[in-house]
This record gives sequence, structure tokens and C-alpha cells, in this order.
Amino acid sequence: MKEFYYDAPYVKEIRTRVVSVKPLSKTFLLKFDKTIIYPGGGGQARDRATVNGEKILNAFKEKDGVWYEVSKKFVVGEEVLMRIDWRRRYSLMKAHTAEHLLFRSLNKVLPELEVIKVRLEEEGFKFYVRGRIDWKGLGNAQSIANKQILNGLEVKQKIVSLEDAKNIENIRIKYDSLKKKGVKEARIIFIGDFDVAACTGVHVKNTKELGYLHINNYHSLGHNEYEISFSIGEEALNYSSESNALLHEILEELKLDENNSLMAIKNLIQERNELKQALRRLNQRIIKNIKPIKPGIYYNEFINAEQKLMQRRINEIIRNETSLIIFVNIKHEKIFITIAKSKNNSLELKPLFKELLQIIEGKGGGNEQQLFGSGTYSKEKLEELRKTIKEKINLIT
Ligand SMILES: [Zn+2]
Repeated sequence: MKEFYYDAPYVKEIRTRVVSVKPLSKTFLLKFDKTIIYPGGGGQARDRATVNGEKILNAFKEKDGVWYEVSKKFVVGEEVLMRIDWRRRYSLMKAHTAEHLLFRSLNKVLPELEVIKVRLEEEGFKFYVRGRIDWKGLGNAQSIANKQILNGLEVKQKIVSLEDAKNIENIRIKYDSLKKKGVKEARIIFIGDFDVAACTGVHVKNTKELGYLHINNYHSLGHNEYEISFSIGEEALNYSSESNALLHEILEELKLDENNSLMAIKNLIQERNELKQALRRLNQRIIKNIKPIKPGIYYNEFINAEQKLMQRRINEIIRNETSLIIFVNIKHEKIFITIAKSKNNSLELKPLFKELLQIIEGKGGGNEQQLFGSGTYSKEKLEELRKTIKEKINLIT
């Protein structure tokens, strides 16, 4: 069987012949005298394809050749028209070549890096690495890879024995695992003299075909492993332009210029953390020193106070004296209301709570001794809330 996808990767359709048919329970396995349908492997997805319009459901690469699963019966000797979804296949060929370029580029910047696996599918191109990475390294690697695209390097393949492959200088090959699998020969892909790797995927003839390469994102998977996603061609250009626009929108919003923006943002974050801590300490002090506005009646407002701290103080007060507590806390554009009383206080909390909740158009609940609720913040709501609480407190004798 001639596997045309390797030697003639640009052939989109051919006439071929069925040489073998194996019936399965509901479907059939077919073998052809020549094929252009890539069965999948090396991280590259199987081609989407048809034979006489009949969809290929699956493909299996066996020792005796590639078998394709279809739901219609074919006859041995029958001549058929085999056709692949070229758009998708070409995109995957480019992705595979891009992955070689990108990994070698990354390796130049971060020599410790190791590829774990590659996943090239329509939904996105991804590969997984082990070893520390950061945006600076990824940016440098992207730039090296794009230079190789501009250089228009030729991509060549060669089949050599596994032992010879191992001895090629700078080759990327999983020798031990191939040897374990009993592989005798390896397909070696050369990209100019920039990269050499053992690979079973289908590649383009020249790096120029990729157009442009963009690293979209990366994220940590834990255990020092990362997933890197990238795009190529038009999609990469769009992604790149959009990211650039977004970056400048963010800088504009923060009133920062590009040159020292990272430092400035780090300073902003630090300032924010310091402010947060200062506010926390201030709230702690306020909560600790709360005084009743009338004997046994506490009413306080907080900004960004921790509920835990307030609760601790509430417990302390209601344990020690006949009391009523109303705490209002403004946090994340919301108003939080806590009402609590001591056990020996006969006042009913629910009617008051309901009235206050209505003002802030909020939701909440609790028990006879303590109720908690929240609604979205507005200046008007807060003023109305204050007014009502003061009126209610005045009525209590
Ligand atoms: Zn490859």
C-alpha cells in the first residue's frame, strides 16, 4: 500500500482501488492500493475524508497497512474516488510544521524544556512541556520561529534506521520509547538546518507557507508542566492585532505608557495591597473600639470590613449585655446588613430586617437572634438606609 500523504502531501483527491474488505458487526474495514488519508498519529488528528462520497468513520494503522472504516459495503477490485477535507488537512500540516519550529525556538531560549505531548486539532493547536516557562521566554521563542518562517526554510523527510536516527546531531527523538515499541525505522523531518526531529505527522514543504506564528497563551498544569496554545497564518495575525489593541486599551485605561508599564502595574498592585492592609487594620481598630450609641444599642458602618471580624465582635457584645446590633458593611459595590440581639432582648428583629432589606432591594435571612442580608450599593440607598435606621433607633426606649 502506498501512503501518499507522506510523499505527496498536497494531493487532495485520487482514484484508487479497494484491495481488501473486512466486515465488522455493522460496518466494514477497507484497504486500498494507495491512500492519501492520514490515519492520525504524532499528535496530528486523522484526516476527514470520503471514498465515493462515503464518510471515513475511523482509521487503523496496522503492520499490513492502513484500514479505513466505512458503513457501506465495497467490493474488492472496485475503483473509487478518494477525497480529503483539504482545508482542515492543510491547516494541520502547517500546525505540525509550526510546532517543530516553535519547540526548537523555545529550546534555544529555555534549553531545559522537554515536550510531553502535542495536540493538533481543529479546536486549537496545543503542546505540553515540562520545565519553567515565562512570557519573556515565549516572546523570544515566537520571534525566533517567525524569523525561520520568513527565511523560507525547506522541509525535508528521510527514512533511516532507528540506530542511525539516534546518531543524528541535535535530533529530537524519543529513542527509548520507539525502541521499546519495536520500531525499526524512523521518519526524520529536517527544517533547513534549524531543526531535525523524528515525527510521523504530515508537514508542509516550506516554512513560508505558515505565514505567521503567534503564541496565544500558556497555563500551568502543576508539577512544573505547562500547556502552550498557538495559532498560525491569518488566525495568528488576527490574534496578534487583537492582543495588541487590548494591551493598549488597558494601558490607556490605567493611564500608563508602554515603556515602564509593567513596573507601574506592579507598583499599582503593591499600593493596592498596602491600602487593603491599612484598611484592614483600621477596621480591626474600629471594630474593637465600637461604643453603643444608646445603652445596649450599637450601630456602625464599615467599608470593606471582614465579616469574620464583625461576627466575633457581635458574639462578644450579645453575650455580655442586653443589646441590639446593626452593622452596615459596604464591600464590592454591595451593601451588607447584619442585625443581631442578645437572647434576653425581647425585640423582634424580623420586621426591622425586612424593612431595611426592602430599601437596598436585597435578599437575606437568619434566625430570631441574628439576620444577614445584602443588596447592590447606591448612594441613595445608603442614605435612605441610614435615615431609617436612625429613626428606628430613636423609637427604642
Ligand atoms: Zn511533525
